[in-house]
Amino acid sequence: AADSLHAIILTTLARHPDTIVIDWHGGPVTAVALQARAAGFASALAALGVAPGDRVAVRVEKSPDAIALFLGTLMAGAVFLPLNTAYTVTELAWLLGDAEPAVFITDPAAVETCRPAVPAGVAIASLGSDGSGDLAARASQASAPAPVACGPDAPAAILYTSGTTGRPKGAVLSHRNLTANIQALCRAWAITDRDVLLHALPLFHAHGLFVAAGTLLAAGGRMILLPKFDVATARAHLPAATLFMGVPTFYARLLDLPGFGADDCRHLRLAVAGSAPLGPDLFRRFQAATGHAVLERYGATEMSIAVANPLDGERRPGSIGYPLPGCEARVVGPDDAPLPAGTAGELQIRGPNVFTGYWRRPDATAAAFTPDGFFRTGDLAVAEADGRLAIVGRSKDLIITGGYNVYPREVEIVLDDLDGVGESAVIGLPHPDFGEAVTAVIEASAGSAAPAEAKVIGHLRSELAAYKCPKRVIVVDRLPRNTMGKVEKARLRAEHASLYG
Ligand code: ATP
Repeated sequence: AADSLHAIILTTLARHPDTIVIDWHGGPVTAVALQARAAGFASALAALGVAPGDRVAVRVEKSPDAIALFLGTLMAGAVFLPLNTAYTVTELAWLLGDAEPAVFITDPAAVETCRPAVPAGVAIASLGSDGSGDLAARASQASAPAPVACGPDAPAAILYTSGTTGRPKGAVLSHRNLTANIQALCRAWAITDRDVLLHALPLFHAHGLFVAAGTLLAAGGRMILLPKFDVATARAHLPAATLFMGVPTFYARLLDLPGFGADDCRHLRLAVAGSAPLGPDLFRRFQAATGHAVLERYGATEMSIAVANPLDGERRPGSIGYPLPGCEARVVGPDDAPLPAGTAGELQIRGPNVFTGYWRRPDATAAAFTPDGFFRTGDLAVAEADGRLAIVGRSKDLIITGGYNVYPREVEIVLDDLDGVGESAVIGLPHPDFGEAVTAVIEASAGSAAPAEAKVIGHLRSELAAYKCPKRVIVVDRLPRNTMGKVEKARLRAEHASLYG
């Protein structure tokens, strides 16, 4: 097996040099062109002083060049550090101070805005999504160097967590971590050079970069690369795709389109969802409209994908399926001891895909692992006797009301099934008697009015134990979400903190 991720991808690209690997509104990119562009970036980075092991901080808009830059960074033996384009200058300054990259790359139009955030001594280069920028110019002139050889334990990328639990932490992923996961996914989902993936995810997150782009590059398939998820554009390109990967909101937005259905998915063989829970109601509606049972999978920045529903076999709504081959999963109590099937506890994962640690945070790294090497995901799950897993919430979202534990997911699943409820978020809010009070925040389904509070509570009362039922139901136009479509529960908790006085 090849030691580095770029060796695997370059071998695939060399096999069919003239195949189109990226479809882009600015023109198609063949395998040989992508390889040449990546080599150009590798040599341009070296000319800027980037040495093996250095971080290359990249805050650019999505484009084929962004993918070539990822590959070129690995070819230079450097560490790819993608940054969310939504970060403010203050956030950027903190991240660049923490990561200490050798170079910071951003769009030509953003250079001046970002400059105050870039520490002294860090080179600044520019790359636009239309091929503009000084890095692009250097890449075009560069002579192609031989890729730097990297051992499997060399770091390949650092991705910062979104920081909902405090200061963002840089998860360091080695070549072994990434190749293990990409190869496991290619096998699990039978991804081949005949696949065409509709790619509408951002490239600064593990989902879009490794799970989507990484698997397709390693398999030699083609990506229809969209600059972002725009629902009308996604629909227009979906009929050409065999594969689609998205966050649950993508599926919800597609279903909102009049007449959306099987014809839009006529060449689709597999639709995958993750990064946030896929509501069983959404699963069923998508299946009814298109005939496709969305394959839900579970992962995190620290481990890419760890658990997934099967390609062949039952894809069950509300379940994330089984650990991927090579991955071990266990559900444990507070003492890290495994719990019996049917009991909720923390989900812990061990495997070659699990990251090596947090960048310069030995304390956080030590806290993230058990003595026997399992990653503490901070997610709460229940296992069935055969090992099938379901996520019931995140430990920080667990609600403790009057001494009882309430798993928000259990309540949300019942809520989402109710007519008129599009999506819901169940949170705990401070309450003088109960400590925390279970509270539901709901978004109405497209085109219908949200059901009345009394009706919602009445329905839940008939389905769930009384202590699990929300005391109040808040109706909002749109739930607040981050760039990955995840509901920002911390924000909801802050906004409604004084609901109960
Ligand atoms: P931070 O770790 O800083 O709080 P984050 O949680 O948004 O940020 P990510 O690594 O992007 O960081 O997200 C991983 C989390 O996403 C998982 O821990 C889990 O809570 C959630 N998640 C991913 N897939 C699923 C899924 N299929 N069902 C439920 N939750 C999921």
